[in-house]
Amino acid sequence: MAQRVQGTEDLYGGYMRAWQRMVDVARELFGAYGFDMIETPAIEQVDTFVHGIGESTDVVRKEMFRVFSGALLPEVLERGGESHLKPRQRMAMRPEGTAGVVRAAVEHNFVPQGGAPAKLWYGEAMFRGERPQKGRLRQFHQVGLEWLGASDPAADAEVIIVLMEYFRRLGFESSQLHLTINSMGDSSCRPAYRQAVRQFILDHADEMCDDCIERAELNPLRAFDCKNDHCRAVMEAAPKVTDALCEDCRSHYEQVKRYLDEAGIAYTEDPTLVRGLDYYTRTVFEVEVEGSGVGAIGGGGRYDGLMELEGGKPTPGIGFAVGFERIYLALQAQGIDLAGEEPGCVYVACMPEQRAAAFSATLSLRNAGVRTEADYQGRSLKAQFKQANRLGARICVVLGSDEVAAGVATVRDMASHEQVQVPLDQLAAFVAERL
Ligand code: AMP
Repeated sequence: MAQRVQGTEDLYGGYMRAWQRMVDVARELFGAYGFDMIETPAIEQVDTFVHGIGESTDVVRKEMFRVFSGALLPEVLERGGESHLKPRQRMAMRPEGTAGVVRAAVEHNFVPQGGAPAKLWYGEAMFRGERPQKGRLRQFHQVGLEWLGASDPAADAEVIIVLMEYFRRLGFESSQLHLTINSMGDSSCRPAYRQAVRQFILDHADEMCDDCIERAELNPLRAFDCKNDHCRAVMEAAPKVTDALCEDCRSHYEQVKRYLDEAGIAYTEDPTLVRGLDYYTRTVFEVEVEGSGVGAIGGGGRYDGLMELEGGKPTPGIGFAVGFERIYLALQAQGIDLAGEEPGCVYVACMPEQRAAAFSATLSLRNAGVRTEADYQGRSLKAQFKQANRLGARICVVLGSDEVAAGVATVRDMASHEQVQVPLDQLAAFVAERL
């Protein structure tokens, strides 16, 4: 039997409704904040991610799925996969949404000099070659937004506010959510800080794991995220970014916090929160659910240098992404079903002689937007009623010979068993009102 790839999931039934709900809630909420939906391709040039996410990040170094067209052709295999391709022809599946949106913004000049900011959101699948485990998949789904062209600390605060409101609308209690924030500095203060952390790791090399020693050269700040408890304990004494911020970054961070306080958003400051991607500058944030055990359900930050890295003009930006699968698990653990109820339907039952009348009644109901089912297997009337129950129909429309002769249908409420006769030409309006 054919099977899906490990670490991927089929979305169907209630799980699919839950994903749709996440997208619907996003559309309504983000729309009110002025964000429009965007969908960028699932494949991009490798360099879009290498420049955007950073060559030294785990995502780029270890987790991207590369795409080889014609990869099974002997001549392609012989030439060594993609080694013959020019950089522009090398492709990868998107491991996150920001790099692609920023690439699109550069390509289509979404933020012209002196023009209005671009506010975009997406809901789509992401691909990372990780070792699959609970809440960690190779194909997962994110909803995220990007606000390009705004440097004001109020934008940082609003992005965090809309994120927290999104979680609230999905069913989380604010008191269960743990928001952590930090400032990572910018191109004027971060390089010196990075160097200080690098030196700290090298000074403590005999106490740290090999990965951290490698990180010292590649991406020293990632040592704060090391899975090894001992390394983490050592890193507690490392220099803190908040002590190394330049005056502009410090003042920006203070203002973000003041806006959050004003909006009544609770947060914890964590000077070791660095997030995995290189592009962040200044504000970064992450949200966890108290005791859920699924890790962060969302996070984001400011990326003022990213547009330039993708070949555009210097343009500030900030955004976040949340993970559908982890949100679903975290809500499920609290007994909240993101899928909601199954949509109600109407079942049209008939005697074999009334098939034609049932056919047109079904069409008129569907044209009125009513989810309608009927029999397509020549079942007996009794079996049709059974089927209606199995489908969870709330209303059953019955067409027997007497009804059709009188130009009416019997409309039966499946819960109360009440029945009324309704003229066929009023059937759709009558049923639509009662569903
Ligand atoms: P990141 O882009 O790594 O900051 O991820 C943003 C959010 O996406 C996380 O908070 C998770 O909720 C989700 N996420 C990231 N990686 C995975 C994965 N491999 N499987 C499932 N969800 C993920």
